[in-house]
Amino acid sequence: MSVNFHELIEGFHNFKESYLLKEHEFFDRLAHGQNPKTLVIACCDSRADPAILMGCRPGDLFVVRSIAALVPGAQDAGDPDAVLAAVEYGVKHLDVDHIIVMGHSNCGGIQGALFPHKIADEKWISRWVMLAHPVAEEIRREEPSGETELLARRTEEGAVLLSLENLLSYAWLREKVESGALSLHALYYDMKAKTMNIWNAEREDFEPIVPV
Ligand SMILES: [Zn+2]
Repeated sequence: MSVNFHELIEGFHNFKESYLLKEHEFFDRLAHGQNPKTLVIACCDSRADPAILMGCRPGDLFVVRSIAALVPGAQDAGDPDAVLAAVEYGVKHLDVDHIIVMGHSNCGGIQGALFPHKIADEKWISRWVMLAHPVAEEIRREEPSGETELLARRTEEGAVLLSLENLLSYAWLREKVESGALSLHALYYDMKAKTMNIWNAEREDFEPIVPV
């Protein structure tokens, strides 16, 4: 299933032969600078690589990865904060038109937010996933059945919306959204169903993206 370090090195040689050298004009242009129009905030999960899932080429996406694709709001941002530094760069320097927050099914980070006692000894993880704890608690109240899979699904989806909400707690970002220069989107990758779901604000639900 997984590749070892030696295979990764081999992988670069294959990439060089198959793409870098064959499509050298494209890569020569990229060598001079990047101009991505979209910033994606995705989970660190090895199965949820946004560039692979959305068929992107180098230069297409400015990618920020954090556990459970969480973004701290202005109240909770660290000092320094890697996620916010990347978002600020994407918004102020790259002037991206879109920000996507992409969550996914079977997310270990969200499990941590739902069951914090299991990671109580893991300082950095527990402090990070606590960002999603309010969502997890809210979902627990709304789903008294406490069915684990349902709780996970709804918390995974809710955490994506929380990250979008937290992005809006930064005035420099919110102003761009309000002026129409920047759009925010919520995606949820369902590995079992093999669908990419997008938040429909009118229907207040995630719906599978259908080919156009
Ligand atoms: Zn995850």
